[in-house]
Amino acid sequence: MAPANTFVIVGGGLAAGKAAEELREHGHDGPLLVIGDERERPYVRPPLSKGYLLGKEDRESIHVHPAGWYREHEVDLLLGTSVTSVDAQAKEVTLDDGRRVPYTKLLLATGSSPRRLSVPGADLDNVLYLRRVGDSERLKSAFTEGARIVVVGGGWIGLETAAAARTAGAEVTVLEHAELPLLKVLGREAAEVFAGLHRDHGVDLRPHAEIERVTGTGGRVDGVQLADGGHLPADAVVVGVGITPNVRLAEEAGLDVRDGIVTDEHLRTSVPDTVYDRLPYFYTDQYDLGMEYTGYTEPGGHDRVVFRGAPDERRFIAFWMSGNRVVAGMSVNVWDVIDTIRSLIESGVETDDAVLSDPAVALESLLPRV
Ligand SMILES: Cc1cc2nc3c(=O)[nH]c(=O)nc-3n(C[C@H](O)[C@H](O)[C@H](O)COP(=O)(O)OP(=O)(O)OC[C@H]3O[C@@H](n4cnc5c(N)ncnc54)[C@H](O)[C@@H]3O)c2cc1C
Repeated sequence: MAPANTFVIVGGGLAAGKAAEELREHGHDGPLLVIGDERERPYVRPPLSKGYLLGKEDRESIHVHPAGWYREHEVDLLLGTSVTSVDAQAKEVTLDDGRRVPYTKLLLATGSSPRRLSVPGADLDNVLYLRRVGDSERLKSAFTEGARIVVVGGGWIGLETAAAARTAGAEVTVLEHAELPLLKVLGREAAEVFAGLHRDHGVDLRPHAEIERVTGTGGRVDGVQLADGGHLPADAVVVGVGITPNVRLAEEAGLDVRDGIVTDEHLRTSVPDTVYDRLPYFYTDQYDLGMEYTGYTEPGGHDRVVFRGAPDERRFIAFWMSGNRVVAGMSVNVWDVIDTIRSLIESGVETDDAVLSDPAVALESLLPRV
C-alpha cells in the first residue's frame, strides 16, 4: 500500500516537470515521485534542435527547474529508471530493476519516441535521431565544416537540423517524400517560404525522394541509395520522420489508446479529470528566420490563408481562415503579435480578409471590445 496520497508521475520530460510543479502549487502535500528513464532531470526539447544545437544555449538553461527545486518542494526524482508495467488493480508500478512502487494517483507522461527508418542499413553508425540531449550533442559533433549531411524528412526537426548543419558549414541535402517540406502542416504558400529559405542558404532540397537503403563501410554510414538510382555520399544521416507515442503503459492501465491516448478537444482522456483548453503554440528559429505559430488546423479545417506583409521578404503574418474566423496564425520575423493572434482565434471574432491583410490596421482593433 502506498502512503496515503502518494502521487507517482511516470516520464521525466516537460509534462512530468510541470505536472509536479502544478501539483505542489495546487496543494498536493503528500509524497510525490517522478520516475524517468533518462538520467537528466526534466528538460525542454525545443532547444535541442535550435539554440542548444547551435551552441547558443547551455545545458543548465534547458531544464524545467533548477536541481534544488525538487529538494525544496519535496519531489523525489528517480532517474535512469524505466517503468516496465502498471497494475491498475493493485495500484502499483514495476520498475526495470524489479522493484514495485505503490501509488494513490498515477500520471503517465511518457511522451513519444522518434520513428525509426525502416530500410536496410538504417542501423549503421552515424544514422542519427534527435530526441534527447545526448542526441543533440552527437549531431553537434557531426556538424562540421565540409561534412556531408543527409537529412531524411523535411519536417520541423529535419529543417531545424539542416539549418544548424549549414550554419556549421556542412554540405546538407534534405530528402522529403512530398513535393515540398512542411507542405502538409503549413500549406503551399507558407511552405514555399521555408523551402526558399533553405535553398537560399545552399541546402540541396530533394522532393519526392524515396530511400532504398543506407550504405556503409565498416559498420559506419557512407551514403544513401535512392530509389531513382542516385547515391548521395554522407558522413552522417539525420532522420526526422515523425514520432511514435509511448502508449504501452497507458494501454495496460486501461485507457482508450489508438495511435496515442484518445482524448476530446480539451485533452480529456476516456478517464475524466484532465481538462486542457490552451491553444497549441510552436516556434522555430532557422538561420535569420524566427517564427511563432498558434492555433490548430487539420487538412480541410481551413479554406484559405491570408497574408499580412511580404512572404517573399520573409517578414509577414499568415492567418489560416475558416469562413470569416481565424483558426491558426503564424508570424515570421514579426514580433510581439502572437498573443493578439491567439486572442483573435480564441475570441472566434468574425473578420474579413481585407482588414486582416492590411498592415495599417492594428490587429488589437479587431478583437471584440470587452
Ligand atoms: C528536437 C525537438 C525539438 C522540438 N521543438 C519543439 C518546438 O519548437 N515547439 C514545440 O511545441 N514542440 C517541440 N518539440 C516537441 C516537444 O518537445 C514535445 O511536445 C515535448 O517534449 C513533450 O513533452 P512530454 O513530457 O509530454 O514528453 P517527452 O518529452 O517525450 O518526455 C517523456 C519522458 O518519459 C520517458 N519515458 C517514456 N517511457 C517511460 C517509462 N516507461 N518509464 C520511465 N520513463 C519513461 C521518456 O524517455 C522521456 O524522457 C520538439 C521535440 C524535439 C525532440
